[in-house]
Amino acid sequence: MVDGKVCNGATHTTSTLKCYICGTISEEFNDLSKRKDVKEESLKFGLSILHARIRFFENLLHLSYKLPLRKWQLRSQSDKDAVKEKKKEIQQKFRNEMGLIVDVPGKSGNSNDENTSRRFFADYELSASVTGIDVNLVFRFKIILEAISSKYKINIETFKEYASETEKLYVQLYQWHPMSPNIHKILRHGAEVISSTLLPIGQLSEEAVEARK
Ligand SMILES: [Zn+2]
Repeated sequence: MVDGKVCNGATHTTSTLKCYICGTISEEFNDLSKRKDVKEESLKFGLSILHARIRFFENLLHLSYKLPLRKWQLRSQSDKDAVKEKKKEIQQKFRNEMGLIVDVPGKSGNSNDENTSRRFFADYELSASVTGIDVNLVFRFKIILEAISSKYKINIETFKEYASETEKLYVQLYQWHPMSPNIHKILRHGAEVISSTLLPIGQLSEEAVEARK
């Protein structure tokens, strides 16, 4: 199982904002009526579980900065300034209320690391209040991330239903902000990817791969 960027390269998908499993582009992710055929061979790349937690966290974070505007693309300077202000305010709250430094570039990359994203989902109620994001959505993301990274066999039908309800909830709440390719992949195709693997999906994660090194 490998990171999304590697999968995009391997399946010749030119834009990273395109789903390498079904070919849908990010602007179409929130249109649930748009369903394209799945490329069977792409299912074997797995779900990039280790990166998924960080990507889910970042998607919610970037969404939260734009909540007052409810706009994905920022064209005017005043919109850009408003988002910058909101970002500062949310970063301050994370620092004060959770002791977390979020979205700050550092020497070894962005501060949005594995530990920060774990803390974010572990304390989902506080995270929802800090960001202003719907608490049910944060909770559902947490459950999905826990399910795919567990070492247990997943009930495919139950997972499929839960993921699909979560996809609908996201769109209902935040239609104006396309979900990230990683979220689309797990909510839309997760059940199929899981059922195409023989081992429990958590055992195929990067963590397992890295543990074997
Ligand atoms: Zn797709």
